[in-house]
Amino acid sequence: MADDITFAGFNAEIDKAFQSAWHSERGGSENWVNLLNSYGVNPLSKEDKEYLLNSEMKITRGAFPIELRRVYEKIIEKYSASQDEQLRSAISNFDMDSKVKEYYQKIKPFSGLGDIFKNAATGTAKYSEGLQKAKQLTIKCKNCGAPRLEEMQYDNCLFCGSKLFERTT
Ligand SMILES: [Zn+2]
Repeated sequence: MADDITFAGFNAEIDKAFQSAWHSERGGSENWVNLLNSYGVNPLSKEDKEYLLNSEMKITRGAFPIELRRVYEKIIEKYSASQDEQLRSAISNFDMDSKVKEYYQKIKPFSGLGDIFKNAATGTAKYSEGLQKAKQLTIKCKNCGAPRLEEMQYDNCLFCGSKLFERTT
């Protein structure tokens, strides 16, 4: 199916993945899981989803950013062997972290509603500030700002999949 490996095909698949994630209900839907399956991507475990839904990374709709990232990765893998110059440059310019962040901006609460969450989060922040003082260290995702608990043994951000973390004391 080499004739499918075109610039237009690449864009169409990226767009379809984005739309499908975005139109999915909060935390994913059956359609979304089907799309993940079609790419051979494992969805987050039930425990991880539960953890994220109760975390400070509020979302109002859509699949989790890290799952969209995993689909993007598969699409890029599929198209990366192409010799087409336009396609090659689209792939090399594909900024995964910012694409995933862009998606996250669309599924997080609107600013008006965000203030409510922000206020609620302030309480949580104060609480966790206390915890952090006790720990003297927090690690946050540089891309989406999700807190990372040291004792959780995952290499990439559980929320958006970024490898980049920054330490703040
Ligand atoms: Zn992140």
